[in-house]
Amino acid sequence: MGRKFFVGGNWKCNGTTEEVKKIVTTLNEAEVPSEDDVEVVVSPPFVFLPIVKTLLRSDFSIAAQNCWVRKGGAFTGEISVEMLLNLGVPWVILGHSERRLVLNESNDFVGDKVAYAVDQGLNVIACVGETLEQRESGSTMAVVASQTKSIAERVSSWSNIVLAYEPVWAIGTGKVATPSQAQQVHLELRKWLNDNAGAQVAASTRIIYGGSVNGANCKELAMQPDVDGFLVGGASLKPEFVDIIKSAT
Ligand code: PGA
Repeated sequence: MGRKFFVGGNWKCNGTTEEVKKIVTTLNEAEVPSEDDVEVVVSPPFVFLPIVKTLLRSDFSIAAQNCWVRKGGAFTGEISVEMLLNLGVPWVILGHSERRLVLNESNDFVGDKVAYAVDQGLNVIACVGETLEQRESGSTMAVVASQTKSIAERVSSWSNIVLAYEPVWAIGTGKVATPSQAQQVHLELRKWLNDNAGAQVAASTRIIYGGSVNGANCKELAMQPDVDGFLVGGASLKPEFVDIIKSAT
């Protein structure tokens, strides 16, 4: 099926110039599987994108953590897709639960952003995931399906999209989904893609897991047939991120 393992590091709103340089040095010195086996993308805050781009090893790539929904202009405080492309940033994370929940980004808004970014030539890590309340009420699949639908009905191609399943209850909590919980939702999402976007999209789209992934729990998760990689928050700021990259092989 040729789904190359994907490991994203979401640094969120963390770091100083010195700390960022230190993380990059650790990554640059690490021995990791070849680019043929794993795609590594780290996502610093906007202000550090240029320095990370300059210093980071050439087999790793970078992502922004957000972007504006349409062409730039009079939108104070926003960063446009055009600016990211101009800087040579190939990836963007969209629909992270912190933006959905804290900044009230709706499914439609996230769908619009993904469509605009992809249309302009960015690669997108699109995040979906249910809250604890939604899981406990049995609506996990309904929630992630409606989040995915808002993307699917707006994009004409999935070839530049990685879908990240990130249960909200697992993010930053230390409460990782069990390998079987992750596999179950990933399989359901793949079935959803098959039924709504076609067999080719379902077979080729990488579905990665995020939520309290660390050096100790990544191997078992990586062995699940429908887990094609990870989106890592807290542990991506630490040397154990290298162990997570190594779980690709
Ligand atoms: P975490 O965050 O690894 O710190 O749980 C994951 C994410 O928010 O992408």
